[in-house]
Amino acid sequence: MDCCCFVVTAQVDSAVGEKEVGDMKKRVSIVEGDITKQKVDAIVNAANNSLLGGGGVDGAIHRAAGSELLEETRQMGGCPTGEARVSKGYRLPARWVIHTAGPIWAGGHKNEDNLLAGCYRNCLKMAVEHGAKTIAFPSISTGAYRFPLERATEIAMGETGKFLENDNILKKVVFVCFGERVLKAYQDAFEKIL
Ligand code: ADP
Repeated sequence: MDCCCFVVTAQVDSAVGEKEVGDMKKRVSIVEGDITKQKVDAIVNAANNSLLGGGGVDGAIHRAAGSELLEETRQMGGCPTGEARVSKGYRLPARWVIHTAGPIWAGGHKNEDNLLAGCYRNCLKMAVEHGAKTIAFPSISTGAYRFPLERATEIAMGETGKFLENDNILKKVVFVCFGERVLKAYQDAFEKIL
């Protein structure tokens, strides 16, 4: 895994009853970097409904994986917002790419929170179903889709925490932050939520 600038993990909780919480926190990492370089079993793509590629992290993943990725995602028939689809990773270090379509922010009254939460839940579920032990997420919907960053990071952290509490397969969930502002938002959400 490329952990270039910053990794946060929780201290070991010694108090009885807090062990599970402590273990869960240690399974979450926050790094600043490029998701296409992550040496994890699965990376998540913040795609669009068509799954035909796009800008931002989607474009970076397609460029790094090579044209075979588009050949595969073209056959998938798209992906409804909040759901996820799995492809191979081709030239990426990751074996799988889990494509999810995040919600476009429309002021908060179009079910955006629940749809974003669904992205995280469905990606984590699919990762486990495919036997992935490590997964990396970008900050879904917070770029071109304009979802407010702090709100999105709290949803990301909250859903991941809930999932890990009931799962013992995933060893590591990495939040890959593109830039310092994103990094700070994830650090804050980690402290607040987990
Ligand atoms: P969306 O359309 O879901 O908002 P974007 O790709 O526009 O998706 O942005 C989502 C997040 O991904 C943003 O924080 C953006 O800065 C980040 N991002 C862009 N390129 C990369 C990359 N190569 N690795 C990790 N994150 C990236």
